[in-house]
Amino acid sequence: LRLERFERYPLTFGPSPIEHLPRLTEALGGKVEIYAKRDDCNSGLAMGGNKLRKLEYIVPDAIAAGADTLVSIGGVQSNHTRMVAATAAKLGMKCVVVQESWVPHEDAVYDRVGNILLTRLMGADSRIVSDGFDIGIRKSWEDAIQSVKDAGGKPYGIPAGGSVHKYGGLGYVGFAEEVRKQEADLGFKFDYIVVCVVTGSTQGGMIVGFAADDRADRVIGIDASGTPEQTRAQVREIVDNTAELVELGRKVRDDEIVILEDYAYPAYGVPSAETNEAIRLAARTEAMITDPVYEGKSMQGMIDLVKKGYFPEGSKVLYAHLGGAPALNGYSYTYRNG
Ligand code: PLP
Repeated sequence: LRLERFERYPLTFGPSPIEHLPRLTEALGGKVEIYAKRDDCNSGLAMGGNKLRKLEYIVPDAIAAGADTLVSIGGVQSNHTRMVAATAAKLGMKCVVVQESWVPHEDAVYDRVGNILLTRLMGADSRIVSDGFDIGIRKSWEDAIQSVKDAGGKPYGIPAGGSVHKYGGLGYVGFAEEVRKQEADLGFKFDYIVVCVVTGSTQGGMIVGFAADDRADRVIGIDASGTPEQTRAQVREIVDNTAELVELGRKVRDDEIVILEDYAYPAYGVPSAETNEAIRLAARTEAMITDPVYEGKSMQGMIDLVKKGYFPEGSKVLYAHLGGAPALNGYSYTYRNG
């Protein structure tokens, strides 16, 4: 894959660690070995996470464009807008983030703690709007870009999740290249990769990256959007665009894009009882912290799939931990008793 021809601005520490999770493996019956790739601790920038891998390939374009302000969008507890605010601070740029009201919430401090607190702390101009959940291109984001221009600034727009951006998928092509190197050191290959999917460029990039050694269909996406048709369409688009950029040399087939829709209920950002049990199990066996919006749902999915026998006995499963723990602070009522 021709990834090296794209400039990368380093925001992460380098390759993220892969660790074995023996107590979680045991708790799930011991027939499937569980590992995690810790993209949740991939950087010193404001607690890190998957968006930094994507932003490493987006930032050179922002610099080349002569931008002085990064403009992005997400929910009130968006990890993505936290990561854009962090990147802007690190680059010495300004930052405007539109925070939509994606999640109904009961915590009194929901809009003051966790991701939004960190975003504000890093100096971003955080604008809360009342629009609901939608992963597409939004008028409020276009308005924010215009507002920077009107004030004489030079905005650079980054869409939700950094996904529908020409270079949004490249970072997770790099993830696949990195896993292949780590597998060579470990002396074995992973049979499956489990990953949370919402705006699509994380899984989309991985699919292209793993298509290079013909195992794109081993990337099991767990939908956390609750709007899986839109997510699937966005993944498809990102896969096609990214495959062309890195010259995969063939079209990825629909059956190589695996997205399971069974775990996003009751809605985006709202954990089910099963999500909460999964979050507790990962925390109590491995001290691995997952959140109720994203990784809690992919953890729930992986646990259910292991229990259902989806992975043949002896499989090695790599759970991609993409970050997101700061959002837990907005759910203090849910976890007040643990
Ligand atoms: N996990 C976390 C912690 C996230 O912040 C996101 C962002 O949306 C995802 C998973 C899903 O990744 P993507 O939006 O690239 O599908």
